[in-house]
Amino acid sequence: MARIFAVANQKGGVGKTTTVVNLAAYLGSRGKKVLCVDIDAQGNTTTGFGIQKKGLEVSSYDVLLGKARIQEAILDSEFSNVSVVPAVSALAGAEIEMIELDNRMNRLKMQLLTCRTDYDFVFIDCPPSLSLMTLNGLVACDKLIIPMEAEFFALEGLSQLSDTMRIVRSRYNPGLDIQGILFTMFDARLNLSNQVVDEVERYFPGKVFQTKIPRNVRLSEAPSHGKPVMYYDKSSKGAEAYELLGHEILGEPLVIQQKRRLFGR
Ligand code: ADP
Ligand code: MG
Repeated sequence: MARIFAVANQKGGVGKTTTVVNLAAYLGSRGKKVLCVDIDAQGNTTTGFGIQKKGLEVSSYDVLLGKARIQEAILDSEFSNVSVVPAVSALAGAEIEMIELDNRMNRLKMQLLTCRTDYDFVFIDCPPSLSLMTLNGLVACDKLIIPMEAEFFALEGLSQLSDTMRIVRSRYNPGLDIQGILFTMFDARLNLSNQVVDEVERYFPGKVFQTKIPRNVRLSEAPSHGKPVMYYDKSSKGAEAYELLGHEILGEPLVIQQKRRLFGR
């Protein structure tokens, strides 16, 4: 039975897609069966796995609008044990089309119920908004992974997301909780970064992943090759960091030396 994670933050460019692609690839390489559901019309998770969007007959758009079953949309990627429900740009219009539909908050959840026994992990890559798409992700998941940069306004964005979580929890998904807040593009040498981490830890005790993802150019290059970073440059800091995150998700203790080298503290 899959653990279902929504990877969400209403801010764009914080590393949601990078996290979905690279965490999924690592867990797949460890023999876990992983499904990535792309519900962002930009389709970056789709292309990040080397899947061409042109000519796709079925995508998350059809699944959310009830025009297809999720099984018809699932594609095997060329990377071990990772399957993808791709997104195409038509998804941008789904928001408006869904307003007419019943159960519009539960569309993704109902579809995932029919396939969650086939996987160990499901990752839902949400768009950069608190739109109906993201709400579908929050309703369908067990836990939330929140990637964010260690910036001055970090807590402000988190409080908006927390408000949305509370609404979803009270009406649709009582078990919804944060699996972890993931600092991305992290630079441990900056005082500000460490201050922000401390502050977020104070407001969300126990909810910040030990693993911090450093800024790493390999992570930004890999998508243009249609590959997760571990298949592009296995020895890069980016690959290593997402491996550590994988260990954390699997409940495997981090090795202290690895932590020091990567995070500097
Ligand atoms: P989101 O899905 O939240 O919009 P992305 O994962 O697409 O964010 O990341 C935004 C941009 O930053 C992309 O170009 C991506 O390659 C790059 N990026 C993400 N994480 C890192 C990192 N740790 N180091 C360097 N570049 C990164
Ligand atoms: Mg994205």
